[in-house]
Amino acid sequence: MKEIIDGFLKFQQDAFPERVKLFKDLATQQSPRALFISCSDSRLVPELVTQREPGELFVIRNAGNIVPSYGPEPGGVSASVEYAVAALQVADIVICGHSDCGAMTAIATCKCLDHMPAVAGWLRYADSARVVNEARQHQDRHSKVEAMVRENVIAQLANIQTHPSVRLALEEGRVTLHGWVYDIESGRIDAFDGRTGRFLPLAANPQVHAVSHQPKHVA
Ligand SMILES: [Zn+2]
Repeated sequence: MKEIIDGFLKFQQDAFPERVKLFKDLATQQSPRALFISCSDSRLVPELVTQREPGELFVIRNAGNIVPSYGPEPGGVSASVEYAVAALQVADIVICGHSDCGAMTAIATCKCLDHMPAVAGWLRYADSARVVNEARQHQDRHSKVEAMVRENVIAQLANIQTHPSVRLALEEGRVTLHGWVYDIESGRIDAFDGRTGRFLPLAANPQVHAVSHQPKHVA
């Protein structure tokens, strides 16, 4: 804990004074451009990876970067998504998985989670990704886990589209969905291309996105 408090003191002495004006502007308002949904894993730091300052990312983090489908009893993730989209009007939503994810490893290797019933229950929200991944052939355990990480990002992109606020924002063409996988060792990001169904290196394909405006012609 000492390191954390020392870090705060360093923030107060160095980082805060450098951003006095920024924090003054942010004191009573925020208008982040993006909602960033990632795993709680300590090795993935959204603001560091995207080089964003305070006020720029609205962040939701949980085990496995999961977004439960919308239902009659919405929870904390649903409330945060709704607030970001309906109140803050974010233009982009990024769902970001990562390499060596403990949650996805547990699913892909059928790890016994009897001693962690809350985790086991939570990871059921990745069931559609799990069954798709189980039905495929994998070279080895590592590639199976990597594929699970990617399938989970795709599944959560589907889940988030069941949220009324997201559905409406897509209909009105004011939000774009992005699915990313961050590699811890190399710092690389692969992004899901909704048109081809493939993950492509983001550095070489910065325009790639998962889902954008989908007008339906029902009338
Ligand atoms: Zn993780």
